[in-house]
Amino acid sequence: MPKKKVNYDFDDIMVEVKKYIQKPENLELIQKAYEYADEKHKGQFRKSGEPYVIHVLNVGYILASLRSGPQTIAAGLLHDTIEDCDVDIEEFKRLFGEEVFHLVEGVTKIGNLKFKDEKEYQAENHRKIFIAMAKDVRVILIKLVDRLHNMRTLQYMSEEKQMKIAAETLEVYAPIAHRLGISEIKNELEDLSFMYLNREKYFEIAHLVEKKKAERDGQVRKMIEEISALLDEHHIKYRIFGRSKHLYSIYKKMVSKNKRFEEILDLLAIRIICDDVGHCYEILGYIHANYRPIPGRFKDYIAMPKMNMYQSLHTTIVAEENIFEVQIRTEEMDNIAEQGIAAHWAYKENISLSHEKEQREIEEKLTWLKEFTLMSGEDGVSEDAREYMNLLQKDIFEANVYVMSPKGRVIALPNGSTPIDFAYRIHTEVGNKMVGATINGAIVPLNTVLKTGDVVSIRTSNQSAGPSEDWLKIVKSTHARNKIRAFYQKKEIEKKSNDIAKGREILADELKKRGLNVEEYTERKKLEAVTGALTYPSLNDLMYAIGTKSIPVSTVVERMVNHNSNKPLDNDELIKMFSRNENRRRKPSKCGVYVKGIDTMVVNLSACCKPIPGDSIVGYITKSSGVKVHRKDCPNIKNETSRIIDVYWDEGLEEKDYEVTLMINATDRSFLLSDIVTIVSQNKAGLIHVDSRVLEDKISVTTMLSVLVKNAEQLRTLKANLKKVNSVISVERITQ
Ligand code: MN
Repeated sequence: MPKKKVNYDFDDIMVEVKKYIQKPENLELIQKAYEYADEKHKGQFRKSGEPYVIHVLNVGYILASLRSGPQTIAAGLLHDTIEDCDVDIEEFKRLFGEEVFHLVEGVTKIGNLKFKDEKEYQAENHRKIFIAMAKDVRVILIKLVDRLHNMRTLQYMSEEKQMKIAAETLEVYAPIAHRLGISEIKNELEDLSFMYLNREKYFEIAHLVEKKKAERDGQVRKMIEEISALLDEHHIKYRIFGRSKHLYSIYKKMVSKNKRFEEILDLLAIRIICDDVGHCYEILGYIHANYRPIPGRFKDYIAMPKMNMYQSLHTTIVAEENIFEVQIRTEEMDNIAEQGIAAHWAYKENISLSHEKEQREIEEKLTWLKEFTLMSGEDGVSEDAREYMNLLQKDIFEANVYVMSPKGRVIALPNGSTPIDFAYRIHTEVGNKMVGATINGAIVPLNTVLKTGDVVSIRTSNQSAGPSEDWLKIVKSTHARNKIRAFYQKKEIEKKSNDIAKGREILADELKKRGLNVEEYTERKKLEAVTGALTYPSLNDLMYAIGTKSIPVSTVVERMVNHNSNKPLDNDELIKMFSRNENRRRKPSKCGVYVKGIDTMVVNLSACCKPIPGDSIVGYITKSSGVKVHRKDCPNIKNETSRIIDVYWDEGLEEKDYEVTLMINATDRSFLLSDIVTIVSQNKAGLIHVDSRVLEDKISVTTMLSVLVKNAEQLRTLKANLKKVNSVISVERITQ
């Protein structure tokens, strides 16, 4: 690894900065930022014993060497002030402007995220939360540079801290640097982490590289001379140099390809930089004409850039005994490869742009980059990059929020989630026993919408009676909803079996009270007879009705002692039964219709007129199978009056498909049927069955159409549209 100078001072920064920033107000901003940071960090020291300001100076210097813009450098110098020093925010904004303030604020926020080690592998989530919170790519850049300098000075930390920080750097920071295309930073972060995490391997490889260095340098020098001669012949302007792979990438290759050091290809690497794209291909042509390329190793990232905007030609050639990896690219491509987005933001913030077109071009690239920073996944793939990006953008910003437990566990939840969703994701019992929540230390209402980066903590109590049913309206995740429902289902079942047992007791007590033999009267056969007579679907339903007092036990006993207990109830008895308990909470019935005050009766939709939600309906009390629901205009109940009862569509009904049959009369023509079917599908009605017949007159045609619809509204629209079909005369819903 190249030895880096560890400490730079403000003069070093200004030397770098003046290479590309000229405007006095920009230079002044940087100067002012330094003076402010120097003042604010006075008296603070790092673990190394150095004054704290050394750290921010180095961050500023690295940013300048990456050609960052003036605001970014200023924010880099100021990045630890808001957090660590007593800063007057208003004064800060007045001195450095909103933009610099937002950058520093962003860096501070990310700095407050605490990722602790977890058994679950969560590096991916950490990267996402990091990027999602940053929002501005410059914040990420500053944070990466901050981490880089901390990694360079990691030797002052305890070994435990070294391992933790190195692991986080390798799993979270280096991949982000890679995705932003800043290979300089990525390589150094990887090598530094590698050194702390696997000292033995690191020094083994470093040693091997060192040992081979003289030999390799000679080979590379010779190759450079050959290629230079070749290119000079063709009068092309170029720069050529050898480059060494960084240690961690060699190690990764050894592990992933299971090879020894000697077997790793492309240790010998050469890069050629030229002035335009045409020359890149021309140079490639000369090289391939003079050296044998290894098949399958040529990659054209100029025509097909990697997702991180990396562009270059790659080829691997054999020269004598040696294998060389050759990269060919333009100056601009090289800048992007080494400094990634940093180079672009320099343009953005710097003023030296003259041409409007160039400005626009950079803006476009920046838009691309902004979106890019939202993305994860491997680069260099041939998928439609934009589509992929959109997907991931949704994934990060629209679909999910990333929040943390106080212990640093990252939980991904659908957007709009609340502390309740969070609690159920932690554990079902945490959700069921939840009594309160805090977000970032402050107590909040349970319907508070969580934001990415929130630290959420849940208060539970063993005294809790369980989730409130209102929570179902608040929660966003299916997971939490299902858990709450499951809780209520379980409770419902428990309650029901209690009520059934209670019903049996009440019945037995009543029989005893009347001096009747309990055993004799509770014979199964007798009970079943009275169950049928009272139109309950099962014995348990009858007991439940007794237990919940929705039928008076006296009514039941009277039926039992009556020898004709098989005789159905007469109308008065029915009405008496049904008019009780109007205020009792009702359960949704399976078919979506309820009878006011009754939830122990079987309710079914009639098969003849097939009502659907939105139709005007009535209930008909059958003699043995509960209430049948008919449409009000159903001919089959036209003459009934006594057994009719009011029924209602359940409004909170979940959408279901209902079958209806339509009869369409039309004059025959070509494509009539296909037009009808098209209308059905346009109206999103499911087609079950079509039967079309030409009548004897050979002109009229009748089509019977069975479709699935959700409600009367949809059916009305469908009918109206069918009526508009050319040659259709009438459309009628039919009743069997
Ligand atoms: Mn810092």
